[in-house]
Amino acid sequence: MRPLVALCLTTALLPSPVLAQEAARETTAFTLSSGAPRTAEQLALRFDKADLSFRLLPESQSLEGVAVLDFTATAPTSAVVVELDAVFAIAAITVDGQAVADWSNPGGRLTIPMPHPLTAGESVSVRIAYAGRPHQAKRAPWDGGFVWTTTPDGQPWIASAVQGEGCDLFWPCVDHPQGEPEQVDLHITVPSTLSAPANGRFLGKSDNGDGTTTWNWTARQPDTYAISLNVGPYVEMAADYRSRFGNVIPLRFWRLASADPAKAQALFDEFPQMLDFYEATVGPFPFGDEKMGVVETPHLGMEHQTINAYGNGYKLDGKGYDWLLQHELAHEWFGNQLTNADWDDMWLHEGFGTYMQPLYARWLNGERAMQAELQTMRLALANRFPVVSGKPQDAGTVYDDKTGPALDLYYKGALIAHTLRLHIGDDAFYESLRRLVYGRPDPQPGNFRPRYATTPDYVAIVNEVTGRDMGWFFDAYLYQATLPDLVMTRQGRRVAHVQRVMPVRIHAGLAAAADLVKADGGERPHQRETGHQRIDEIDRVRARRPLGQDQADDRIDQAKEHVVRGLRPEILRAEPERIPQIRRGNTPHRRLRVQAACICHDMKAGHNRPPVAAGRSPA
Ligand SMILES: [Zn+2]
Repeated sequence: MRPLVALCLTTALLPSPVLAQEAARETTAFTLSSGAPRTAEQLALRFDKADLSFRLLPESQSLEGVAVLDFTATAPTSAVVVELDAVFAIAAITVDGQAVADWSNPGGRLTIPMPHPLTAGESVSVRIAYAGRPHQAKRAPWDGGFVWTTTPDGQPWIASAVQGEGCDLFWPCVDHPQGEPEQVDLHITVPSTLSAPANGRFLGKSDNGDGTTTWNWTARQPDTYAISLNVGPYVEMAADYRSRFGNVIPLRFWRLASADPAKAQALFDEFPQMLDFYEATVGPFPFGDEKMGVVETPHLGMEHQTINAYGNGYKLDGKGYDWLLQHELAHEWFGNQLTNADWDDMWLHEGFGTYMQPLYARWLNGERAMQAELQTMRLALANRFPVVSGKPQDAGTVYDDKTGPALDLYYKGALIAHTLRLHIGDDAFYESLRRLVYGRPDPQPGNFRPRYATTPDYVAIVNEVTGRDMGWFFDAYLYQATLPDLVMTRQGRRVAHVQRVMPVRIHAGLAAAADLVKADGGERPHQRETGHQRIDEIDRVRARRPLGQDQADDRIDQAKEHVVRGLRPEILRAEPERIPQIRRGNTPHRRLRVQAACICHDMKAGHNRPPVAAGRSPA
């Protein structure tokens, strides 16, 4: 309980005529991006704790905030630098209780000079009081910010979603993936008719006696963009879940009071199933000592740590589960427990996070359900930019399909994960996930902490787990935009030769399996060969003669070469007939090898093409 919070807010936010500075009218491009390189001052500080008090004012769509930020210097520095949207008027800044007048916030990077230079090991507490109208989302969660709306019964309904733009849209922070404070405490003051569920553990609420109530929370090392405010007329649904690791995890769902109780209950009933899948597949729920929390939001969704945003409207889309809830829950492992060290590594969040949906479909409904989901993803690939560029990127660059991989982070990332699993086998794949997510192969509740990782970190993990150099695999699929080609050479009805054009030659035919096993033997990639036939557009592939209809023409098929770009569905359909030697001649184990070589597809799939889900976009 923090009974003084409301008082602090009330007194602190009276604008100081001496210190208040004129706020900018517009949020700057700098503030709207996330992940700019950190300054030397930021790199010289450890972010110990952020204690954040907010008063939300629905009528004016504004907020008043007090942030108390604790840092410890890891190297000498003469200033604290954080980011804060310059639309806010800053009323006062103090350092260890001393007023600071000569701070500056040009364009949203707030520099606060220290009264004396900090030496390594020295701690400091910075208090910033500010107020204003936070940037409003145009299309949350993609063009994020604040959403001020009303429920169907006309009550205020407020949410924040700032993944692409960053935490500095509403609190002073280090807007970089590695800017996580060790601890964040939240004190959210709202009209007493509304609720304010938030990140972490609930520390109680206090009635301020003025028609407002303050809700208090504490969260362990949350992702910077995962801190979120959610306010509305909510009904809290609660249950406890005993996990397969023996700990008891609070399950909480804040649904709108106006939501259909039966639909909300049906969604709530999915929580334990999904948790069990993730704990069986990846490992312990990372925040079991806090909660698995979900809140109904006006926007589709977002991976807010222990308070995932859910706005999928309880839609059933034939998958047998709520994909949005399942996807956002994936980010508790891939995003919040494991955080990408840079936005360039975002596929670690979204690729693995998206692969969890087809794996869950298989968990619930079998192999064909998984294949159907994977097939939908294959049809959505762009292959215009590498999934990973290998250099630091801001969030906007990565998420814009004109400058970065955008949705390929999700679907191609998932297909790469699928291909890798088939290639190295389940044991190695899932061990690589555990090591990536927890930093150890034997996670148990309480023996790990949130961590950062890069793509090279994951490649090193896979190399270690498999005992092989898998660099060629990641070089080909993550670091170059175009997919490798699969070149099939046929003589009559017989496939004479199959070659994957990137690093490794593979041969399909009478002795296919043995050669395929050799083909994954860790060769480094050579450059893409030139001069072979390439099919760039799916329509050109479709326009070719359907492979299933050409038996009559086999007599003229002398050594016909098929080049398949990205392994199109037509080929998937045809392959069982076209490569009879492989189907007849291999054990299931060996056929897995064939699937692995046939990147991003496997040969059992594709007899029916599922429709592309209209309007479905991950978050
Ligand atoms: Zn996601």
